[in-house]
Amino acid sequence: MVTVPNLTYDYSALEPYISAAIMKLHHTKHHQTYVDKLNDALSKTPSLAGASLVSLLGDIQAIPADAQTAVRNNGGGHYNHSLFWQVMSPQGGGEPTGMLADRIVRVYGGFQQFVDQFTEKALGVFGSGWVWLQPDMTIITTPNQDNPIMSGGDEPLFGLDVWEHAYYLDYQNRRVDYVKAWWDVVDWRFIEARHESRGGS
Ligand code: MN
Repeated sequence: MVTVPNLTYDYSALEPYISAAIMKLHHTKHHQTYVDKLNDALSKTPSLAGASLVSLLGDIQAIPADAQTAVRNNGGGHYNHSLFWQVMSPQGGGEPTGMLADRIVRVYGGFQQFVDQFTEKALGVFGSGWVWLQPDMTIITTPNQDNPIMSGGDEPLFGLDVWEHAYYLDYQNRRVDYVKAWWDVVDWRFIEARHESRGGS
């Protein structure tokens, strides 16, 4: 049985950038539904018992056909949201420092250029999906609840949820305003530590 992880901050902690109403709905309803449906799929497929989520997603084609879509959508939803809660903080915003900042500047020419390119990718996702920064500093997008692990990639350093459910209550259809505001809650200290733990240099 997998469970929805607790947040390390209150639902209202990311205001005014993300409202308590969205955080509560997103965490207790959307994420919970992915977890419930993942548990349901796993319980019906005993051969998957005991496998880690990352190994399941990394070898998604090997999952029996009758469970594969459920694991892809709901296992992806569980992984993606579990990471998403961690990359935000009421102490977030600002810019990265140290090795991560150096790499971003080396690859993108500057932090603002990186933000601009990531934002452009976020606005370019048609329908529902995610934007990711990978450990090799590439920015990639995935549809639905897919993530880079499913196509053989590394675990992302961070991701941004651009499903309308992530912003509609606060920003209606204005994804651009949501993405702009989101940079003010990004927890660069967490992302720096994740980068270093993966041997980034
Ligand atoms: Mn979401």
